[in-house]
Amino acid sequence: MARVFNFNPGPAVLPLEVLQEAQAELLDYKGSGMSILEASHRGKEYMAIHQEAMDNLRKLLGIPDEYVILFLQGGASGQFAMAPMNLLGEGQSADYINSGAWASKAIKEAKLIGKVNVIADTAKDIPTRLPPPGGLKFTPGAAYLHLTSNETIAGTQWKVFPKPGVPIVADMSSDMLSRPFDIRPFGLIYAGAQKNLGPAGVTLVIVRKDLAERVSEKVPVIFRYKTHIEENSLYNTPPCFAVYILALVTRWVLKLGGLEAMARLNAEKAAKIYTVLDTSSFYKGTAVKECRSDMNLTFRLPSEALEETFIKEASAQKLKGLKGHRSVGGVRASIYNAFPAEGVDALVAFMKEFERKNG
Ligand SMILES: *Cc1c(COP(=O)(O)O)cnc(C)c1O
Repeated sequence: MARVFNFNPGPAVLPLEVLQEAQAELLDYKGSGMSILEASHRGKEYMAIHQEAMDNLRKLLGIPDEYVILFLQGGASGQFAMAPMNLLGEGQSADYINSGAWASKAIKEAKLIGKVNVIADTAKDIPTRLPPPGGLKFTPGAAYLHLTSNETIAGTQWKVFPKPGVPIVADMSSDMLSRPFDIRPFGLIYAGAQKNLGPAGVTLVIVRKDLAERVSEKVPVIFRYKTHIEENSLYNTPPCFAVYILALVTRWVLKLGGLEAMARLNAEKAAKIYTVLDTSSFYKGTAVKECRSDMNLTFRLPSEALEETFIKEASAQKLKGLKGHRSVGGVRASIYNAFPAEGVDALVAFMKEFERKNG
């Protein structure tokens, strides 16, 4: 088998054993005589998967009863619109933190729905960074504070979340299930699955029930969290296969020891690469130290020509997907939960050798 080390930012690497299990079950799911791809979303096979995915998430994140877990479609981008459609009432405003490309997109959508106050803006800062959580000025009476827990392109990640005194709405697409956190300050969390949770096609939404109740009657039924809560995410046909893989991924995370174990492994992997950056005058990290991400590690080389050579030679050594986002250039190593430690070791060895030859 010729599997490479896959540093893609998303869709991204999945645990090998998850893929193997899906492969083994693909043609005949647990003796049902059909693939789960062909099964009814109301049949007992899929219903068990749907329930297991929710149970595993509840256990992993310690989600209390006042929150519901939803499996929706339209990606995190869909949630940029759906969140304000549901939570930003007439005459209200919401606070947003603009920390980069993804937060900017969320802001753009929210402004089409209601009044938005951008209370901090580090989106254009170089080196990339987040505002210090203690220095923020929140708007009194805001419906919520929106933030992006991990900026996938900029390579920054909130280590301590702000305390706005109103519910936090968070885009956790690229670090969901990478570390434990206290969910109680959050009113809504959403994540496209294709970074850290599974394949593209399902969007995980966790919402506090009382907040979802407030939706205006003018919002189309399909775009109300309330609708999906009442129908257990089966109002329309859910992305069954993506939820199935997500269920297998959550099972895998539980087996590894849950989010504490995941966070430890992720920190160890990231530290190996950051140590190279910190001890080199050849590589330069693009994010300030106190907010750099354990998921997406971004750095530059002395010239764009060297970056191009670096990415090309790495690729020839089965280190794939290291090109930085097209909007910023440079190099980005996305090392999500499923990215193996051996792949990090291989990249570190490659970086040292490349510096020796070209430094
Ligand atoms: C990838 C990503 C998105 C976009 O997700 P889609 O599922 O493609 O809509 C939004 N936010 C963050 C932080 C991301 O990493």
